[in-house]
Amino acid sequence: MNFEVVKETVAYARSLEKPHNKNFRFTITTNGLLLSDDKIDFINREMSNVVLSIDGRREVNDRLRIRTNGGGSYDTIVPRFQKLVATRGKDKDYYARGTFTKYNLDFTEDVLHLVDLGFDQVSVEPVVSDPKLSYSIQEEDLPRVFEEYERLANTIIARKKAGEGFNFFHFMIDLNQGPCAIKRLRGCSCGNEYVAVTPEGDIFPCHQFVGEDDWKMGNVLDGSYDLERKNEFALANVYSKERCKNCWAKFYCSGGCNANNWQYEGDIHKPHEIACALEQKRLECAVMIQAALAE
Ligand code: SF4
Ligand code: SF4
Repeated sequence: MNFEVVKETVAYARSLEKPHNKNFRFTITTNGLLLSDDKIDFINREMSNVVLSIDGRREVNDRLRIRTNGGGSYDTIVPRFQKLVATRGKDKDYYARGTFTKYNLDFTEDVLHLVDLGFDQVSVEPVVSDPKLSYSIQEEDLPRVFEEYERLANTIIARKKAGEGFNFFHFMIDLNQGPCAIKRLRGCSCGNEYVAVTPEGDIFPCHQFVGEDDWKMGNVLDGSYDLERKNEFALANVYSKERCKNCWAKFYCSGGCNANNWQYEGDIHKPHEIACALEQKRLECAVMIQAALAE
């Protein structure tokens, strides 16, 4: 929506690369609505990753991605996303990234729809929302979601064996190497190695905390930064979170999402129960896929 800022930020960072012997990598997320040819060229040139927001089938996408004119976004964004991916080049990452809700618990169909549209890097993730909202995923939905994850995993195995594989982000797991120890212990490291900065210059632990004044960590314009809070986040890891300590998934999950923990359990150290159940199921499926493909 303010693409000039994106361009200027990239140009500024690039101007610092040589003098400081650094290489900046950029990621951008777009819902596609304002994605012109110029922006596609810029993104494909400058961004090492791009996340394309689309939920899958037309009716699924358009039910929740409603435009100001009351229509959906699907017909506008699909050709633009296809063009971006077709001209992107194989050396750069992208994801067609959707959200599934209670309305589409048959989300394997949405994943396959995205693959049929030509996207081979797909991420479709569960909605995390206020339980009062009609589309939120509740405990009673878990058996159905688990069944669907298994259906998706089995579909991926069959397609890979047939030479028609694609990547599903949440089933990608590196059992032999994977991330470094510190990343395994504290995941995204929001508020510590990662922060969000608002247009006003305010610093928050990550985008999900933006607007929550209690979590403001400082401001880039006056140079303030709350080091105590930074340390609090640095120490939030799978051993400081009671529930994670004995969880079999801890070195792959890395303690869940601090923002969700705080929003739904009131404490960054208290994992969100439904999110845990989903994460464990996804990891189980990811391991199952690797075992099946190793046969
Ligand atoms: S699944 Fe839940 S309990 Fe297990 S490591 Fe992740 S956040 Fe912690
Ligand atoms: S949303 Fe959650 S996982 Fe993402 S950066 Fe924030 S705390 Fe980390």
